[in-house]
Amino acid sequence: MKRRNFIKKGVIGSVAVGSLSNNIISMKNSNPGPRIISTWKHGVPANKIAWERLKKGEGGLTAVEYGVRDSEDNPDERSVGYGGLPDREGKVTLDACIMDKNNDCGAVSFLQNIKNPISVARLVMEKTPHVMLSGKGAYDFAIKNGFKSMNLLTEKSKKDWENWLKKSEYKPVINIENHDTISMLLLDEENNLFGACTTSGAAWKMHGRVGDSPIIGAGLFLDNEVGAAASTGLGEAVIRTAGSAMVVECMRNGMNPLDACKEVVERITNLHRNRPEWEYLQVGFIALSKSGDYAGYSLKKGFNYALTDKENDSVLIDADYKV
Ligand code: ASP
Repeated sequence: MKRRNFIKKGVIGSVAVGSLSNNIISMKNSNPGPRIISTWKHGVPANKIAWERLKKGEGGLTAVEYGVRDSEDNPDERSVGYGGLPDREGKVTLDACIMDKNNDCGAVSFLQNIKNPISVARLVMEKTPHVMLSGKGAYDFAIKNGFKSMNLLTEKSKKDWENWLKKSEYKPVINIENHDTISMLLLDEENNLFGACTTSGAAWKMHGRVGDSPIIGAGLFLDNEVGAAASTGLGEAVIRTAGSAMVVECMRNGMNPLDACKEVVERITNLHRNRPEWEYLQVGFIALSKSGDYAGYSLKKGFNYALTDKENDSVLIDADYKV
């Protein structure tokens, strides 16, 4: 059987399985039209922006870029961009990546004083021979390309940091301090996939720590023949399992998006249940297949994701979870 035929068969097979679950809404037609999913409740306004950009004909890449920028710009989103919680030295350091239908991708990590890392990541993809720029190199590149330097630590975040310093205990509070990365996946009218992911990372991390979010294959991955996946939660656990790449690979091997997410959460569970971080471990994945099937799944309760398509004007869906 040719590879492409195998993939198609796998995805069709997944529709039957997926439609049995109440946490995955499967579409039986092969051209579901545009569909966007993104992590957490800030995905709701972000999806709306992405949808509008797509409808205006600006393309999937610009749609995901400007969708997630909404969270980067919002100081009330405490895990992304401006207003994101700082590391233990009081510095806000940002990670982001973007990927398109041709497997072109760009990323920035450990970027400081620039509000929109996702747009810098896009420029890394479009203007350099590299995939990722980090730290000062990423900052200098951003400044050279017209980005403005600014202080990303809001008064509120500064106060929270000063409070944290009193105990200086690194034990992220599940779904409060170790979540809220925005990851967005988009399937356009022509069934092409795009993805973006941006975060300020785990609150109170060590200075210099980089999580899963800017790492292609960990925080985000897509294969335009198969599907796309993205993560949120404790980045170290996602990196250890090449999380998003594995979700996509499971879909390539015939699993529907929900089962693919479950499989990787299972691997993460097995690797971490005897480690000290098990106590505060949360990971969540979203996945969108080439045929428009989608799902969200997390290790622990509390993860949700936003869906936008022709029938759903940005609705928030509670993801299924393991424990
Ligand atoms: N995945 C992010 C990180 O580990 C955290 C998050 O999702 O908020 O950096």
